[in-house]
Amino acid sequence: MGKVTGFMEYTRQLPERRDPAVRIKDWLEIYQPFPEDHLRTQAARCMDCGVPFCHTGCPLTNIIPDWNDLVYKGRWKEAARQLHATNNFPEFTGRICPAPCEASCVLGINEPAVTIKQIEKTMSRYLKRATASADCCATASRISRWSST
Ligand code: SF4
Repeated sequence: MGKVTGFMEYTRQLPERRDPAVRIKDWLEIYQPFPEDHLRTQAARCMDCGVPFCHTGCPLTNIIPDWNDLVYKGRWKEAARQLHATNNFPEFTGRICPAPCEASCVLGINEPAVTIKQIEKTMSRYLKRATASADCCATASRISRWSST
């Protein structure tokens, strides 16, 4: 657990939405960028529950308290690896999923839930950046194998 008192110190915060009049002119993200330190503060709200209902609120059974802890500590690479262990498509679950994990979050009983979806989305971006060059090599090698069969 990153910060024992995080859930008592910080309130839920999400990035602002961009102006719809501007959004209709492009295909960019709906939300404004969210600074890393803000996101780490949000991860600090996770209570690392003894019975983390967030785990089973989603059929993917993502190991959410572990990512939250790693994100809070700024250990993005390990957090992204943990995320990918159970979720092969965080790029879109982090955007369009209705987030049953957040609906199941224990903190949501008497406070706004942990911003699991926003954390997931940001980790997927990290993962994409970190693996971009490796993917490129792996894809090239796969293509060369397919074309030689
Ligand atoms: S239920 Fe909420 S507070 Fe508890 S471990 Fe999961 S994300 Fe953290």
